[in-house]
Amino acid sequence: MIIVMKPNVSTQAIDNVVSIVEEYGLDTHLSRGKQVTIIGIVGDKSLLHDSNIQLLDGVDKIVQVTESYKLANKQFHVSPSIIPVGNTFIGGDQITIMAGPCAIESAEQVMETAIKIKAAGATILRGGAYKPRTSPYSFQGLEEEGLKYMAAAREATGLAIVCEVISKESIEIASKYVDMFQIGARNMQNFYLLKEVGKTQIPVLLKRGLASTIDEWLNAAEYIMSEGNPNVVLCERGIRTYETATRNTLDISAVPVLKSKTHLPVIIDPSHATGVRDYILPLSKAALAVGADGLMIEVHPNPAAAMSDGPQSLTPEDFHSLCDELRPYAKLSGRYL
Ligand code: PEP
Ligand code: MN
Repeated sequence: MIIVMKPNVSTQAIDNVVSIVEEYGLDTHLSRGKQVTIIGIVGDKSLLHDSNIQLLDGVDKIVQVTESYKLANKQFHVSPSIIPVGNTFIGGDQITIMAGPCAIESAEQVMETAIKIKAAGATILRGGAYKPRTSPYSFQGLEEEGLKYMAAAREATGLAIVCEVISKESIEIASKYVDMFQIGARNMQNFYLLKEVGKTQIPVLLKRGLASTIDEWLNAAEYIMSEGNPNVVLCERGIRTYETATRNTLDISAVPVLKSKTHLPVIIDPSHATGVRDYILPLSKAALAVGADGLMIEVHPNPAAAMSDGPQSLTPEDFHSLCDELRPYAKLSGRYL
């Protein structure tokens, strides 16, 4: 629920509404515009049932937000958010390119990849140190040792780094190294984990669950934001459908749908969406055309020897060509890369 105050009302009138709402046990989030102030209400709005808030001095109207997510809701925060990550940002005019190996395998692998993706135009290095693999017998990641390799690559290149976290313990360790946490598809509705990353101020890349609706995804973002961390970026990585030609089905329509519902930036991951390296370029072009704020692409110096996701990984050289090919598409969408 959102309370829209009348234009140019006094601070006293705003404070009065806020304190009455808070007396009912609800939280408020104030957004002061040049003329109009809006007050977002977070919590169980049924508590306000008999409050007659609309009659208070200075209140223009009450807008019922039917969606249960508020902090992620565009109605409450109309201008698109720009999320700072390390020495770069996601959103605005820039198309952010995140690239790197599925799994961190060695210091050399990470360093070589970092240097080459930076030269191609990427600003964020990705790499998995904790790998929630479908099979317990698959490589599970180098954990803290891998994070150290990532940090060394950041030191050498200035790239920001993003790594997946899977538990409270991994959050504590990764927070010493990373510029951004990733919550993987398999954990999108791990509400405990979402709350834990929400207690930090480290930006979070929240991947869409394997079979999650957009509404469930935005509620997952709300879990993070309602703990006090506003720095959330959404990543569409394909959903489960009956189609088997690709690993998942890229829901390209998710981008305009999200843009109509939320102010949070949206990234497309064509690597996990398709599982096939040949489809990454066409879907990256599509992502830019529909208004995505960036791409996450898996790159490995030697995909044939990769410990995970080799078939969908680009070589650094192919990745460089991809960035070059995408630049005019970014320009066409009024962005730069
Ligand atoms: C990843 O990005 O490394 C990953 C495991 O992706 P997802 O969670 O989307 O499957
Ligand atoms: Mn992967």
